[in-house]
Amino acid sequence: MASLEVRGEPSCIEVLDFKAGAGQFGVIAGPCSVESEDQILQTARAVKAAGATALRGGAFKPRTSPYSFQGLKEDGLKMLAAARDETNLAIVTEVMGTGDVDLVAKYADVLQIGARNMQNYRLLEAVGAVGKPVLLKRGASATMDEFLLAAEYILNEGNPDVMLCERGIRTFEEHTRFTLPLASVPYLHRKTHLPVIIDPSHGTGHTYMVPDMAVAAVAAGADGLILEVHPDPSSAMSDGYQSLNFEGFERTMQRVNVVRQAL
Ligand code: PEP
Ligand code: MN
Repeated sequence: MASLEVRGEPSCIEVLDFKAGAGQFGVIAGPCSVESEDQILQTARAVKAAGATALRGGAFKPRTSPYSFQGLKEDGLKMLAAARDETNLAIVTEVMGTGDVDLVAKYADVLQIGARNMQNYRLLEAVGAVGKPVLLKRGASATMDEFLLAAEYILNEGNPDVMLCERGIRTFEEHTRFTLPLASVPYLHRKTHLPVIIDPSHGTGHTYMVPDMAVAAVAAGADGLILEVHPDPSSAMSDGYQSLNFEGFERTMQRVNVVRQAL
C-alpha cells in the first residue's frame, strides 16, 4: 500500500496548517519533552514565527533509563492542546503503548511512533485504526524493508496518512549519536508515495550539526523536518545537547528556505 508504483503519485498529508509531501514542505519543531505550560507556549510562538507548521513535544517519553524523566503524560497533552488553540500549529506527540492510544489521540493531531516501537505491531495496528495521521520513526536497527513493512501495518488498517521519519541508525560510528543516512530520501521517494521527514536532531545528537544536516535534508528532497527546539537547551529535561534555541531555529529556517527556493 506504500508503493509509489501502485498509487502513481506522491501523497500529501495535511492537518491544520501542516502540509508535507507532493511538493509541500512541513516543519515540525518543539522540545523533546513538554516540561511546563510556559515552556511549550513560548516555544510554540517562537517556532511558528520562524515558519514551523507543527509543534512537537513528548508527553510520554521512551527513556533509556527508567530513572530519567518520563514525561508529564496527560498534563503534558493538555499543555500541547492549549498551544494548538493559541497558534493553530498541528500537535505531533508520541504514543508509547496500545493502552494510551485513545488518550493521546484525544489531544494530538499527529500520532508519533518512536524508533523503539517501530516494530510494535499491535501498536501500529492501534494507531492505524484511529484515523489520525501517523509519523512513523525508523527503528535504529531497522532495514528499509522492515521500515516500509511497519508502515504497511498502519496503512492496512485503512489509514492512508503515514509519514516516514528517518531519524538515524545505529552504526559502529560514535562521533554522532546515530548515523543519519540522507540517501533514505531518494530511496524512499523511489519506492513509496509517503512523505519523508528527516530528524537531524536525533540523527546527529549534536546541536551544532543540526542546521547543516537540516539544509542537507532539504537539498536531498525531504518533504519535511522534525527539529528539537527549546527556550534554554542547557536546562532541558531531555535531549538538550541536540536542541536548537529559538535563534538557532530561526537561522536554520532562513537557510532551509533559501535551499527550498533554489530547488
Ligand atoms: C523523540 O522524538 O524525542 C524520540 C524519542 O525520538 P526517537 O523515537 O526517534 O528516538
Ligand atoms: Mn528527543
